[in-house]
This record gives sequence, C-alpha cells and structure tokens, in this order.
Amino acid sequence: VPLVLPQFLDRAVSLYGEKEAVYCDERVFTYDELNGRVNQLSHGLRNLGIAKGDRVAYLAPNTAEMLEGFYGVFQLGAVMVPLNTRLTPDDYVFILNHSESRVLFVDQNLYHLIQPVKEQLKTVEHIIVHYKEPDVNETGYNEWLASYSSERFSRAELHEDDVCSLLYTSGTTGNPKGVMLTHRNNYLHALSTMHHLRVSDRDVYLHVLPMFHVNGWGSPFYYTANGATHICLKKATPQAIFQAMKDHKVSVLHMAPTVLNSLLQYNEEHAPALDQEVRVVIAGSAPPPAFVTRVEKELGWEFIQVYGMTESTPLSLISTIRPQLANLPLKEQYRIKAKAGYSMIGSDVRVINDNGEEVAHDGKEIGEVVTRSHGVMKGYWKNEEATMEAIRNGWLHTGDMGTVDEYGHIDIVDRKKDIIISGGENISSIEVEGVLYEHPGILEAAVIAVPHEKWGETPHAYVVLRENQNISEQDIIAFSREKLAHFKAVTGVTFVGELPKTASGKIQKVHLRNEYWESFG
Ligand code: ATP
Ligand code: MG
Repeated sequence: VPLVLPQFLDRAVSLYGEKEAVYCDERVFTYDELNGRVNQLSHGLRNLGIAKGDRVAYLAPNTAEMLEGFYGVFQLGAVMVPLNTRLTPDDYVFILNHSESRVLFVDQNLYHLIQPVKEQLKTVEHIIVHYKEPDVNETGYNEWLASYSSERFSRAELHEDDVCSLLYTSGTTGNPKGVMLTHRNNYLHALSTMHHLRVSDRDVYLHVLPMFHVNGWGSPFYYTANGATHICLKKATPQAIFQAMKDHKVSVLHMAPTVLNSLLQYNEEHAPALDQEVRVVIAGSAPPPAFVTRVEKELGWEFIQVYGMTESTPLSLISTIRPQLANLPLKEQYRIKAKAGYSMIGSDVRVINDNGEEVAHDGKEIGEVVTRSHGVMKGYWKNEEATMEAIRNGWLHTGDMGTVDEYGHIDIVDRKKDIIISGGENISSIEVEGVLYEHPGILEAAVIAVPHEKWGETPHAYVVLRENQNISEQDIIAFSREKLAHFKAVTGVTFVGELPKTASGKIQKVHLRNEYWESFG
C-alpha cells in the first residue's frame, strides 16, 4: 500500500464517522460531514481544472475550511501551499508566484491583504473567499462548495513520493524557502508522532499553533487518523484558550514558548479555574528551562519539549526521561526535560564537529545538529543550490548547534547564526535568555551578539518587563552576572514594549540585530 495521506481520513470516517471531528465558531462537523465537505471541495477543484501536481494556496487562520482543505487538495494529488497569515501583500505576491499557485482560498478577514496586489498574481486563476461578505467581488466558498456533490470522489493515483505540500519556512533568519514534503514524509512523521504523544480517540486537540506552519501542520494527520476531535480557535488569546479548554475538555495542546508564557502570565493574574482535562502540552523553539517547572507546577500539565524544523516535517527529537532516571528528584527531571531529548522513532539525530565526527557525550562539546529521517524533505522548491547545501550525503544539516550529555540527551544550544562568540568562547543566546526568564520582573527576553572592542562580541538583551516593574539595566546585568559565568552575562539591555515575532510566535532576532545597528551602530 502506498503511504498516502487520504488513508488517515478514511480511517477516521470508517471508525468514527458519527463522532465530532471539528468545532469551529458555532459549528460542529462529524467525521462523515467533514468527509462530505472534503469530497465537495475535491469535486469543485476538479471542475476548476485542478489536476495532480497543481498548487493550491490557502491564506486562512485555523478553521474547519482550512482543515478540510488538506484532504480536499490531496485527493486530487494536488499540492497545498499554506500561507503565513502575518506576511505583507508583497510577500504573498512572491510566494504565490514562486509556487505558481493556480487557486487561492482566502479568509474574508485576510482578503484585504490580497485585494491590492491581485493584478500582480501571475498564475492565480481563481480566488475563493471563506465566509464572504456580500460586498466582496469574488466567489464565496459556501455557495461554491454547496454546488458540488459530497459523494465519493474518484481519487487521482497517488504515490508516496508525490509532493503534497510546499511549506515556506518561518523566515526567522531571512527569506522563507519553499520546502517540498511528500506524502511519505508526512505519513511516517504522523505515525511516529502519534506514538510518542500517545494520541488516541479520546483526545480533544486545541489548535493553538497555526495550521499553516509546520508545527500545527501535522495535526490534521495524526489527530484525524485517530478520530480525535479538533477545536479551531481563530484567535488564540490566553482568555480564549482557557475558555475553550473548559468548554471542550481539551486534552492536548501544542504551542510556541511565547504563547505558553502568555498562559502562565494569564494564570498568574486571573487564576482561571484549572479544572481542565489537559494531559500534556507540547512546545518547541527553545522553551526556557524555567517554563518546564512552571507549567508542571502552576498549571499541572505534563510538559514535553520537541525539536524540529520545516525541512524535517518537522519533529525529530522529543524530551523523555529514561526509566532509570525516573527516581531523580523532580528538579533534576525538569532540568533534563528542558533539553530537546532523544531521536524520535524513524529519526537519527546526531551532533557532529567540523570534521564530521560525533561530539563527546559530555554535555559540553558543541557541534552542528544533523538529521537523517523519514521526514527529511525532498528539497527546496526551485532551489537546487540551497537543497544541496542543506542535505549532504543523506544528512540534513540543520544550522542548529547542540551538545549531547552522558545519557544521550541532545540539548539545542543555539542557531549557528545566533551564537555569540566572546573572547573565543561560544555563548548560547538561549542559555542567557533562560536565566533572564528566571527574573521575576521579566516577561520576555531575547539575547543577541553585539560588537565589543575587547571581546569581539558580547551578549546584549532585549527585554520586555512585566507591568509596573521598576528595574534598571544595571539590575539585569547584575542578575545575569550572579547566575552565569561572567563572560556569558549580558553587558547591555534595551527595554522594549514587545519583541518582533513570526506568526508562529518565534522571536525574530534578525530584526533585533538590525534595530541595534540602527540605534547604536
Ligand atoms: P527560517 O529557516 O526561514 O529562518 P525557521 O528556521 O525559524 O525559519 P522553522 O522550520 O519554523 O523555521 O523552525 C525550525 C527552527 O526552530 C530550528 O532550526 C531551530 O532553530 C528552532 N527550534 C525548533 N525546536 C527547537 C527546540 N526545541 N529548541 C531550540 N530551538 C528549536
Ligand atoms: Mg530554518
């Protein structure tokens, strides 16, 4: 049997047809109903002339329409191009033209980002608007969908090595690149992830991460395949998240550390009733160690850290306590969980030095993280050079730096580009941030390298304070010197109202570096 994604929906329909598949706004669809809508969508797209290999773009928040889009597009063998909702009109022109998308589905609330640049879209033949207002002069999704049959769709012949998506990377470090992932990539990634996260039909999954980003992207596969229920939240404010948990008895959430931080903050200020069923919260993107403890203690949820990147579908490491360590004091266990952890099933992750040899398992020697796995992308779309640079001898070079401890846990130290080199020593910006997050007055922190006459580079912090805090630059410098080796301590602080973030909640240090150069340079 070829490992292709529509099998996941088939399984949910045959086992859980009458069960709630998705809650979105005031609506709820069962798996049978969702499947009917998926078929309508596939029929509609075929009627527009969409065939195998064609690209279909989505610009939408987390909605039922987005969720059904995955399978509706895949049944045709077409390729889904989800667009980050926080880009500019010019970015959309670039990605839509670059991906040569033929159809664009866009949410009414985001249509204003497309309308002014419509003339510049070279390949888009149809724009279809979800929840269309009467004054918008485009095809409305509901009426369009309703004109097609929900009967079984005769699928295109699918092969597991067919590309199913072009996912553009976050653009944390520069321009986003189009990552080609195949059915097989996503299928095996889903199997591995559902095992590690113990996904079952009892799960109620709250979409906090955007589905258009690779971290939120996997949920339509591993939660659907198991007949779990999806809860879509258009706007993931802390209040909305706590409310949804209560209303739907949510059991599992994935989120960026920045969002997790806002939940901890909300919990501290408003003490919402924590009578929820949440069994686990999953976060990637360098969560500060202090969060692990706070999530488990203050919110009472199990915390799991994962590591991955778009280019590997994404997950390849998961924090785990080995059975022989389960008797360690909790504090020690939290320290271990603050590391990205072990290779997931189907992934082989190593940390290598400049000679390509594995680093010592001493928790100290830093090397580049490389991955070989079922999830490694087919390549970057129309960018052979970048593909050859990223995948060498079958190993994906992640551009992330890490260490391995005596137990084999991998710790992500930093991105190669973010490491601070001071007096010949490597300083992990993530480690310094981790310490700043222990300061009770600090809400958010990001550390970058800035030039230093004597040391070459030195750590500089951008800090967002909690409300009504009267903390000086000197206080923060002193705090970091107390907690860190002196050469790692920050030597300067810029206070800001907020930090620049990607749509998935990542802090964009590129912008901080530019800002630093503009103001101090
Ligand atoms: P771009 O490649 O366009 O600059 P990006 O790398 O942020 O954007 P993603 O693929 O969304 O795009 O993110 C993957 C990166 O996120 C990883 O390479 C790593 O730097 C970071 N990351 C993910 N999980 C973790 C983690 N657990 N700890 C530390 N860093 C992490
Ligand atoms: Mg990247």
